[in-house]
Amino acid sequence: MMKKICVVGSLNMDLVVIADRFPQPGETLSGKEFHTFPGGKGGNQAVAAGRLQADVRMVGKVGDDIYGKQLILNLQKNGVKADGVFVDSGVSTGIAVIEVDGAGENQIVIVAGANGKLDSRFIDEQFDAMLEYDIFLFQLEIPLETVVYAIKKLKEYGKTIILDPAPARLLPDEIFNYLDYITPNEMEITMLTGKKIRTADDAREAGDWLRRKGVGTVILKMGKNGAYLISDQEFSLIPGFTVNAIDTTGAGDSFNAGFGVSLARGNGLWESVRFANAVGALSTTAKGAQNAMPDWEQVMSFINAEVTRR
Ligand code: ADP
Repeated sequence: MMKKICVVGSLNMDLVVIADRFPQPGETLSGKEFHTFPGGKGGNQAVAAGRLQADVRMVGKVGDDIYGKQLILNLQKNGVKADGVFVDSGVSTGIAVIEVDGAGENQIVIVAGANGKLDSRFIDEQFDAMLEYDIFLFQLEIPLETVVYAIKKLKEYGKTIILDPAPARLLPDEIFNYLDYITPNEMEITMLTGKKIRTADDAREAGDWLRRKGVGTVILKMGKNGAYLISDQEFSLIPGFTVNAIDTTGAGDSFNAGFGVSLARGNGLWESVRFANAVGALSTTAKGAQNAMPDWEQVMSFINAEVTRR
């Protein structure tokens, strides 16, 4: 039987302005293009899981504005149950204003908006509905105390917890005891453990550091190289897939969704990291975060083609 996935986290609308150059303070400049893209790490992971045919629910908050409506619609369009997304009338939807200049450099301002209002009371209100789910995906774009509160409470019911510790920040020791899986990239694991990852030994030591703190299994995302799997049973680098990467935005979110979905289908750890590598790789093959996130058939035929080639 397929297990059910619940994502608890952020929903953002990315507002992207393309111009030849950035304006000076006080200057008004004519830009060239404007685009809006659904984003936020929570929303990205939920959409990626939805495309992979998971039974997935999003728990989060948006504001009572046009972006909030669009984000909810986008979740539903991608097969995500959105009745756990609350429309908070006192605040804006979370947004990121992204300016891109002619050289492709960017400047970003993020306003957490409704994401910042996700408090423990909201978790309590949602909790009964959440208990119908098995595997929980968290990230760090909602208040940290809410993440700790929710994870601790879910653990009391024996739920499976996957934390993507992104964006990078320090975490209180307490949280590690509640994590079945943590999925940092190189920068995030360095932030958490103080250890730079130059060699396989570094990866093992940083992974062991987190496991000593109480984490079950560490999955260290290594970009095109794939990911390390560090558990009590095993230490291995599970190689990534070779693709023509165009934009790696959202690769980590796609990876996490792929990992969760594969676990939900009852696959083992090695196979699930392999599957996550495929989802992450495919997500880099076009511009944008959600734009290139693959569906189930795409991932399966991609993995099968890779197996035949060898
Ligand atoms: P983040 O996006 O969080 O910085 P990574 O860059 O490590 O994390 O990417 C997450 C995962 O996506 C990787 O572990 C890998 O599976 C896949 N991935 C990322 N970049 C590439 C790439 N250029 N080629 C193939 N796979 C990639």
